[in-house]
Amino acid sequence: MSLTRSIPLGRILGIPLGLDYSWFLIFALVTWSLAGSYFPAQYPGWSTGLYWAIGLATSLLFFASVVLHELGHSVIALRNGIPVRSITLFIFGGVAQIGREPGSPGVEFRVAIAGPIVSFALAGLFGALGGLGASIAPIAALATYLTYINGSLGLFNLIPGFPLDGGRVFRAIVWRVTHSFRRATEIAGGAGHFFAWLFIFWGVWQMFAGNFVGGLWIAFIGWFLQNAATASVQQMTLERLLTGHTVGEIMTRECPTLAPDVTLEQLVHDHILTTGRRFFPVARAGRVEGLLTLHHVKEIPRDRWATTTVEQAMTPLAQLRRAHPGDSLWNAMQEMTADGVNQLPVTDTANGELAGVLARDNVLTFVRTLAEVGV
Ligand SMILES: [Zn+2]
Repeated sequence: MSLTRSIPLGRILGIPLGLDYSWFLIFALVTWSLAGSYFPAQYPGWSTGLYWAIGLATSLLFFASVVLHELGHSVIALRNGIPVRSITLFIFGGVAQIGREPGSPGVEFRVAIAGPIVSFALAGLFGALGGLGASIAPIAALATYLTYINGSLGLFNLIPGFPLDGGRVFRAIVWRVTHSFRRATEIAGGAGHFFAWLFIFWGVWQMFAGNFVGGLWIAFIGWFLQNAATASVQQMTLERLLTGHTVGEIMTRECPTLAPDVTLEQLVHDHILTTGRRFFPVARAGRVEGLLTLHHVKEIPRDRWATTTVEQAMTPLAQLRRAHPGDSLWNAMQEMTADGVNQLPVTDTANGELAGVLARDNVLTFVRTLAEVGV
């Protein structure tokens, strides 16, 4: 899944850490339920200020625990040469964006199990803290809750449905047994769908049984897992299809270029509406200087189309991420997704000149053709 709208919080071990906006909702809910009801019910007689201070501290430590869980996966991934793009906290916890699929069942197993191991270790640590600070009620309250929540986090993640950690462990085992990554992903993905539906049914049942909010939350988690399982299996299928193919094989080589002084008005009427093209290299004296897409046109108000030239609206080539003809198609596709763009200019490795453009449409057509031909 891709989480793009996140607030950067700096780096840990060189990995960018970010907060998705949805995280604030869960952070507020957890803090509020701890300070407003859970702690007052469990430990009566404190001042309101103390409930909120301990509620806030517990909530922050809970999310720090989630980051440590994701760091557990990340450290093992990095140690096995797999890049980790980012760690993002969002409404359902945390996610480490691992750069690519692990190369062997052993690596997959270790990367997947590392997160739950960290959670269980944290449960043990907070359990010990609770024991040592048993006489100080606020410390005991904080430690007991964090012991319970980290233990639950470890257990929940061990549910053997892909893409949960347990599902990845399960996939690694099936992969080792069947020697087929594809087969293993299908089976673990199927288990993912099964557990996701189990959560949805259980949640709905709870809602009708009177636990509306709790049930809604469980059903919501099930719905999220359902989407994640589908997306992960699709992603794997795509990676399998694209691996081994290069950008040069399918890029569009014949790109009609535009002169820099063409206005947007002319562009829309003479080129976009008549050809349906969505991107145009802008060239001066045979040399490409930038790329103009439909997106650039939409950003300029309509009444300024007659007076704005394509040179003013385009993104200069130097500012664009570029691909080379020999690059892996899968990596190029990942880059387009990460940057949220629909095309990448492809420049010649030797002279830096534009050799073609790779559009998302090229990739989709290619995938459809591969699927039809059945290779
Ligand atoms: Zn995990």
